[in-house]
Amino acid sequence: MAKESTIRTPIVCVMGHVDHGKTSLLDRIRGSSVVSTEEGAITQHIGATLVPIDAVTRMGGALSKVSVNVPGLLFIDTPGHHAFTTLRARGGALADMAIVVVDINEGFRPQTIEALQILRNYKTPFVIAANKVDRVPGWRVQENQPFLKTFAQQNERVQGILETKVYELVGKLSDLGFNSERFDRVSDFARNICIVPTSAITGEGLPDILMVLIGLAQRYMTESLKVSADGPGAGTVLEVKEERGLGMTLDLILYDGNLKVGDEIVVAGNDQIIETKVRSLLKPRPMSEILIEERFERVKSVTAAAGIKVAAPKLDGVIAGSPLRAVRSGNRDEVIEQVRREVQDIEVNLSDI
Ligand code: GDP
Repeated sequence: MAKESTIRTPIVCVMGHVDHGKTSLLDRIRGSSVVSTEEGAITQHIGATLVPIDAVTRMGGALSKVSVNVPGLLFIDTPGHHAFTTLRARGGALADMAIVVVDINEGFRPQTIEALQILRNYKTPFVIAANKVDRVPGWRVQENQPFLKTFAQQNERVQGILETKVYELVGKLSDLGFNSERFDRVSDFARNICIVPTSAITGEGLPDILMVLIGLAQRYMTESLKVSADGPGAGTVLEVKEERGLGMTLDLILYDGNLKVGDEIVVAGNDQIIETKVRSLLKPRPMSEILIEERFERVKSVTAAAGIKVAAPKLDGVIAGSPLRAVRSGNRDEVIEQVRREVQDIEVNLSDI
């Protein structure tokens, strides 16, 4: 670990049963961005969405009293188990935390249980989004409001139904060996899983789910989130894509250090290690500049955690899920060995699942 370390943005993956609202929740988080050029606004990365801490605070989620130094949350745009299990970093999961979305009216389904088992195996902290509260009979929608505010506006009968449904989830989680509680009654995040009632359609409870994730990261993960911002970049390849005018490119989630144009990088191909050099680093353009012909904005360097497109020669045969590492100060052999080990580790772990 380098001397100068900072706390990076934790990476979050959304999981849960089909149709319970994973995509809608991500869309709602993305859609809650104000003007994208504004300071502290939610920004679209390659394959991910960055929600800075200012945006969480602005939404009105009650942040814990401890001072917050987690800079925000980076959501992987692809939801589901597959993304969680195939995207790996240093032998563990790439995602530092997860949201498990459960339709509160339907309760647990097979993929909910599968998601929980995966998270347990990886020891990944998570929060439950008890979603589709707006479908609880008699619910009166309070657009974008934190849960307690909207709950206070419901009549007693509706409140009773919601409580019963939350307790059904608590019961199911208990059968699986997890202690849980509605988030506003949890005092120790290490002992209890937080259940946050949400609606991905109306935005209710969304400020709270973001706040709980920040709280989890702040209390239990700051050590594992320490990175050296000027150290050599390390990341995981989300996708390998041919882009018009750019040739083969990698969509990368950078989780450590930084990556610069001209950096030598090592990445895993189908059956060999590939060494190449970063030709360009590309970010999506903000929506306001969509008229500009070039779809991407070129940047000189990028710091973890971030989603970035990497253009470089010799990328044919790179596999999604592969590790990528930058070579700095002549440690080439060491980096090649590291990437080789990480690939082997991925193969071993995938056979466990
Ligand atoms: P996924 O398969 O888990 O990604 O689920 P989707 O996000 O595609 O949602 C499945 C369906 O449920 C879609 O028709 C959504 O519009 C709807 N849906 C998702 N979340 C909510 C919610 O909170 N409230 C309501 N009323 N509908 C929702």
